[in-house]
Amino acid sequence: MPESQTESEIQHFDNSDPLRPYKDRFVIDDPSIIYLDGNSLGRLPKSTIDVLNKSVRDEWGCDLIDSWNKSWYTKSLEIGDTIAKIIGAEEGEVIVADSTSVNLFKLAHAALNYQSDRSIILTDEFNFPSDLYIFQGLIREKFSDLKIEYLRSEDGVSISSEEIKSKITDQVALVSLSHVTFKSAFMYDMEEVTKMAHEQGALVLWDLSHSVGAVPIDVSTSEVDCAVGCTYKYLNGGPGAPAFLYVRKNLQDQLSSPISGWFGANDPFDFNLDFEPATGIQQFLSGTPPILSMGAIKPGAEMILEAGIDAIRKKSILLSERFIHGVTEYLLEYGYSISSPLSAEERGSHVSISHKEAGRIIKALMDPSIDGFKIIPDFRRPDNIRFGFAPLYNSFQELEVTIRKLKMICENGLYEQYDDTMPEVT
Ligand SMILES: *Cc1c(COP(=O)(O)O)cnc(C)c1O
Repeated sequence: MPESQTESEIQHFDNSDPLRPYKDRFVIDDPSIIYLDGNSLGRLPKSTIDVLNKSVRDEWGCDLIDSWNKSWYTKSLEIGDTIAKIIGAEEGEVIVADSTSVNLFKLAHAALNYQSDRSIILTDEFNFPSDLYIFQGLIREKFSDLKIEYLRSEDGVSISSEEIKSKITDQVALVSLSHVTFKSAFMYDMEEVTKMAHEQGALVLWDLSHSVGAVPIDVSTSEVDCAVGCTYKYLNGGPGAPAFLYVRKNLQDQLSSPISGWFGANDPFDFNLDFEPATGIQQFLSGTPPILSMGAIKPGAEMILEAGIDAIRKKSILLSERFIHGVTEYLLEYGYSISSPLSAEERGSHVSISHKEAGRIIKALMDPSIDGFKIIPDFRRPDNIRFGFAPLYNSFQELEVTIRKLKMICENGLYEQYDDTMPEVT
């Protein structure tokens, strides 16, 4: 493996890939790096460098404080409107601010206040820990009568519709889930779950961090109440780029932000002593936004729109299916197993595999002395390796190299040369 026939098949996949030209629009200095971690930190679009240069040199360097009126003050909304197009929201329904965790705090707080006669926050055991910590903190600090209930998985990979149905009761105030879960890549049916929640009078708050820019999302059609998401994964907005939040238009003025800072006030430059919230989505801003890193979001988000989310999803499925096929065909006998849903409909854009030596296998994957390639996936302790497929810059060829290396590492016991200590950030 790969046989010559497979080789030409791969060529064919790459040659007929309509998104192939996009790879050239990213900074790829070292072609021996195979980057399969775009679900944690997306690559740098070349155009982002120019945007940032301009922002630093011209806007900050030359125009100084005038830049607030020229372009900075409206940037949170403007980039929010760009992201709105990616998630099927309308203008004025999305704004860029803070981190995903802080936005989740603001919106969960607002929704729980609104639903004060109910007692349950419903989430799942797959949710990103930060999301769970935020709910736990809200209960500790403010909503002490509420408790968290968790949807449970039977197979560690997906959550059944029956489980969801049985836990969404008329006591649930808020259903808050990651649309695509970070470990197994299980993807909820957003429309169906939102409908179930609404039938019981609950609000929904989706975390789109692992789905935005990778799978089609339509918050309007799905009648989603609230959502948050981060911009540095498939949107390629850069490390620590601020996150976004969405609130459906006719709910905006019924919810209120718990962080009533001046940027969320009606007229911040009135310097009024008493807070009066802005109308619309703007009230969910808190303080001065990080202008430089916020500016870095736009080129990546626009590239997603230009390529088209349907084309992106189509390639993502092809890549994932080929990868799963490769694992099934060549790797199961070496102790690997697949920890993601096998059906594309239930899967986001990454695939998790498990192996009891995962920690050491990753080190071998990243070691170019084995085959000339440094393959970067993502590791989740203790045994989980995640491969994120970013259709704008990953190729079919890269997958084949990865499968071949995963096989080689176990076939020849190559991982035994590495220890299993891990760096602080994995
Ligand atoms: C990446 C991610 C986050 C990140 O949260 P920050 O507060 O922006 O660091 C939150 N939730 C989910 C589901 C994520 O995947």
